[in-house]
Amino acid sequence: MTTVERPDLWRMIQEQFDRAVAHLVIAPGYADKLREPQRILTVHFPIKMDDGNIRIFTGYRVHHSITRGPAKGGIRYHPALTLDEIKALAMQMTWKTAVVDIPFGGAKGGVDCDPARLSQGELERITRRYTSEISLLLGPETDVPAPDINTDDQTMAWIMDTYSMMKGYSVPAVVTGKPTAIGGSEGRRRATGRGAVFALREAAERIRLDLRGAHVVIQGYGKVGQTVAYMLQHVLGIHVIGISDSRGGIYNPDGFDVRAVRRHKRESGSVVGYGEAETITNAELLELPCDILVPAAVEGVITAANADRIRACLVVEAANMPVTPEADDIFEERGITVLPDIVANAGGVTVSYFEWVQDLQSFFWTDEEVTQKLREIILSALNQVWETAEEKEVSLRTAAQMLAISRVARASELRGIYP
Ligand code: NAD
Repeated sequence: MTTVERPDLWRMIQEQFDRAVAHLVIAPGYADKLREPQRILTVHFPIKMDDGNIRIFTGYRVHHSITRGPAKGGIRYHPALTLDEIKALAMQMTWKTAVVDIPFGGAKGGVDCDPARLSQGELERITRRYTSEISLLLGPETDVPAPDINTDDQTMAWIMDTYSMMKGYSVPAVVTGKPTAIGGSEGRRRATGRGAVFALREAAERIRLDLRGAHVVIQGYGKVGQTVAYMLQHVLGIHVIGISDSRGGIYNPDGFDVRAVRRHKRESGSVVGYGEAETITNAELLELPCDILVPAAVEGVITAANADRIRACLVVEAANMPVTPEADDIFEERGITVLPDIVANAGGVTVSYFEWVQDLQSFFWTDEEVTQKLREIILSALNQVWETAEEKEVSLRTAAQMLAISRVARASELRGIYP
């Protein structure tokens, strides 16, 4: 595991918000409204464990904003999950849906639990009871969850089924990231990685970074990291020279065959131990000499403590919130371009939007249609962010947040304050 301390995500997101708002003219009071979540639900619920004992679990569902549409955001299962973490990620979802201009608000939820220590039956019971506890918020028009860390398409299938049983009929549009057999979308699983690669290619062109023969380092080899690695190597011909997961990293300056690394991880549980590479720590991985660094694991891994030693010229935030505001300042001084998370990893929520639309219409699209529409949305958002950054002379992160916040604030102003 990395030795990075758990970051204060709520402080980070509020700091990012304040930096963006400082450049905007928003009617008095509306910024204050957007600085806090609209509603927070905390639930405590009992689960019968496999050994017959009853254990109480704590879960959360936070709606940061529903001004532009139903609340949208993932559900995370993690030990020592905090409400502040969920609040921050809910707020970030509002900006993500707004910057790619899809008609959703922002939400996040989760249960404080350690899936590695739970049986499949216990996980199913936790998911169903948590769904029932937060069901007063859920619905295709009100709140549409999706997978996040330690939840997957099976978790979404249980949520959909529990909600549907309560209604008495099938409601596929209540969650996204479901298996395609019950209304999931083609291309959802790879969507975040694909979106990140579309954005990366465009950004490289704009900063005149020649991708032919470029070197990339990827932290995290899960759903997102694997898609990014595969596309960079096999579609763009980039050398992937460093990869890591929670157990550590591997490095080979000549590059790896990322499919062989994936096979090794599938068989052994980690990238560590892959034959043709040196074993390194996650901290060392981030500081490897490379052109592009793709954090695709967890939050807060690049801070004031290591930003000075990052050697990439482009950082693509496939993970949520991997770079702290203090590290952002150091990167700005050093001329390192950061492609911010709310654009770089918005591919997932964009295809979630397509899935919701397909479910509501009961009419399904091909993988080609999904990919084509995804590409248009990500590139359009990136272009708008880039133009804003140049025009206002701010970082790409501040520009992305400015665009997003001004869209939500405008919608809020138009709707007015009730009553
Ligand atoms: P995942 O659980 O499939 O993979 C996470 C990877 O990170 C694994 O390889 C894991 O071993 C590694 N990891 C975990 N803790 C680590 C640590 N402390 N140091 C180094 N590596 C560590 O998750 P994912 O879906 O690939 O998501 C990765 C990131 O992308 C997360 O920040 C997530 O919030 C973000 N994200 C995912 C999606 C999506 O659609 N999956 C969408 C938007 C953002």
